[in-house]
Amino acid sequence: MSLQIINLKKKYGEQIALNNINISIDNNEIIGLLGPNGAGKSTLMKSITGVIRPDEGSIIFNDKNIFENEIYSKKQIGFLPENNPLYMEMYIKEYLLFVANLHGVSENRIDEVIELVGITPEKSKKISQLSKGYKQRVGLAQAILHQPDLLILDEPTNGLDPNQILEIRNVIKEIGKEKTIILSTHIMQEVEALCTRVILIHEGNILQDCPIDQFQGKYNSLEEAFTHYTINKD
Ligand code: ADP
Repeated sequence: MSLQIINLKKKYGEQIALNNINISIDNNEIIGLLGPNGAGKSTLMKSITGVIRPDEGSIIFNDKNIFENEIYSKKQIGFLPENNPLYMEMYIKEYLLFVANLHGVSENRIDEVIELVGITPEKSKKISQLSKGYKQRVGLAQAILHQPDLLILDEPTNGLDPNQILEIRNVIKEIGKEKTIILSTHIMQEVEALCTRVILIHEGNILQDCPIDQFQGKYNSLEEAFTHYTINKD
């Protein structure tokens, strides 16, 4: 898996969301995408997954420009968007079968994924009947069903209770052994528990892109480092 983001720019009207972003990823690792609200994280994730078109720059995934190879990229990239949009009236298996058909993936993979994300006991339920944590697992299941090389997760544990957070983290860690994962989060323990590398975005610019210990640097905690980089900027 390789991903090169080159001089990426995106504006919404006069609002600059991404201002010349450059990122290179070559290894299988779990990367934390950090930044205050409005920093540009979702815009970057949506650009990589082809949901929106940036104004300038390119994204090269496995040596192919994603905007010129949309089908290839969608086959190799999994995405759990913010707020996890699901079809509430569908049953879990029905929904995952729908996703499997979209990707041309065999039905056998559905039970495998259900097991992997830990929703076996709930698998006969309607999505609307699930707790938020289980809905999140269904979102993860759809994101990994087609065994993508690159998995993009936008605040995957947002709104979950502490037990659900730990469970989802374990699932992410398990998947991260074999795949590259970019995940956005505001929870620094999550970064500590999962990530090897951190990319910090602020006002559409990358402020830091480094291993997690380097990110913490001279500060006592990741929270303190985050505050200094984004408020004091020293
Ligand atoms: P983050 O995910 O880090 O919170 P976003 O990528 O959602 O940041 O937003 C970056 C900037 O772009 C913010 O100023 C936000 O208000 C703006 N923005 C995002 N999406 C839209 C949109 N569809 N229309 C107008 N402005 C947007």
